[in-house]
Amino acid sequence: MDTAMLHSCEESQIPDCNIYNECIEAVFIYDKNGRIVSCNRSAKEKLGYDGPNDFIIAVFPKVFYKKDGNLLLADGIEEGVLFETVAYRKNMTCYPAMVKVLKSDREEYRICFAQNMANENAAIKKMASLEAELKNASQVKNEFIANITHELRTPVNGMKGFAQSLQKTELSKEQQENVEYILRCCSNMEGLINQLLDFSKMEAGQLSLEEREFDFYRFIEGILALNLPQINEKGLRIRINIGKNIPQTVIGDEFRLGQIVNNLFSNAVKFTQAGTISFEVVNTGQHGKKIELFFVVSDTGIGIAREDMDKLFHSFTQVDSSITRRFGGTGLGLAICKQLVEQMDGDIYVNSELGVGSVFSFSVRLSIPGEEQQKEKEEIAGFSGQWSQRIKEYMSNSEPEPSEEGMIKLVREKLEKIILCIELGTWEKADKFAGMIKAALPDSMAELKKEVFRLELMLRKENYDLSLQQVKKIQEKIES
Ligand code: ADP
Repeated sequence: MDTAMLHSCEESQIPDCNIYNECIEAVFIYDKNGRIVSCNRSAKEKLGYDGPNDFIIAVFPKVFYKKDGNLLLADGIEEGVLFETVAYRKNMTCYPAMVKVLKSDREEYRICFAQNMANENAAIKKMASLEAELKNASQVKNEFIANITHELRTPVNGMKGFAQSLQKTELSKEQQENVEYILRCCSNMEGLINQLLDFSKMEAGQLSLEEREFDFYRFIEGILALNLPQINEKGLRIRINIGKNIPQTVIGDEFRLGQIVNNLFSNAVKFTQAGTISFEVVNTGQHGKKIELFFVVSDTGIGIAREDMDKLFHSFTQVDSSITRRFGGTGLGLAICKQLVEQMDGDIYVNSELGVGSVFSFSVRLSIPGEEQQKEKEEIAGFSGQWSQRIKEYMSNSEPEPSEEGMIKLVREKLEKIILCIELGTWEKADKFAGMIKAALPDSMAELKKEVFRLELMLRKENYDLSLQQVKKIQEKIES
């Protein structure tokens, strides 16, 4: 490239030369002494330089320096590498620029590209300040929630204390009922305060889980003991199915796991006026040093419309305001459950139909103590899956298990029927057959059971392709 060619190039119609001139970046071509021999339109307009009588060092004084008459690149600046510097206009004003210096084909010329970064930098600054503002606002909100919940706890504790003292005095029947009502309100209020606190911890990323050994069977008993009174009070039936191959001692956050199950249970009871609440837990296999437990809580309650199901796990979501008025609640419970389940390496799903009922299922992974320790603990406790009489009464899996051959035959038959139902579009029937398969499968076939759970969910969604695919998958598994 020589000077004459560059100057003529500027005026010519050759596409390359148009690119040189139309380029948004400022482009300078200079000789080894730093004299600018040509610059494009952008350089002229943005920086006010004109070519032959100007020097590149005046444009980028932080990029170049002269030593013994030679033009050199400043320390830390390399040819061909983008770097940030300041570009000086001819009128001595300046702007931030991204610059790249290249050698041209002919040794005596070099090229320098400069892009004005003023707008980008302003946008980056604005974004950083917005981010800081947002962080600050979220911190203020979390602090507010922490303070207000703390302030609310004190009067609630006061009311609760006085009501409990009143309960110990002699009261008329009506007064007793009123005091009980006050205590129920206090415990609702405590529940709301705890949910708000969990929510603010969750938002601040401070909701951490404990890893402690606990007795899984006692844990389940605790859950049931807490929920059975309301279930009985409403005259609902309950079906419980707890897999037998769940170790007695597991390691995880018992309190938080209980919070998830209780939330699902209490919603199931809250939104069901008649029918059955079912609760199932199965061990769906080992993953490294952890086991995966699959929980299902289903009800025959009011159900949830398809379009509302996606919203359920978002904070402060309730299906409609009439539900809030009728049943109360903050709409935070399921959002907290989702976060907790994910922290326990699991997933949570809902499947529901308006007026028919809902199925909430979730999986979590829990650690287990070494085999020796587990045995020792079972011997010391002498418990090993023995249920209290009260819970046993509700267990639906006390019948003897069928032989493996008989069971496979039954599954085969029911799968055939399910295919027929899918083809005919009789989804409810197909769902019933899937339920029969699930009931027939022993706990030792937990992986297969999980696949049938999935099939049930697909059937309830009335998804033709996925349901058929899932049936095929189960057929292959059972034949292998
Ligand atoms: P809340 O504390 O308000 O109950 P959740 O997050 O637990 O909040 O539930 C959010 C909403 O989801 C409920 O208000 C209700 O509309 C709907 N929902 C949850 N579980 C069920 C269920 N088993 N049956 C019908 N609707 C439910």
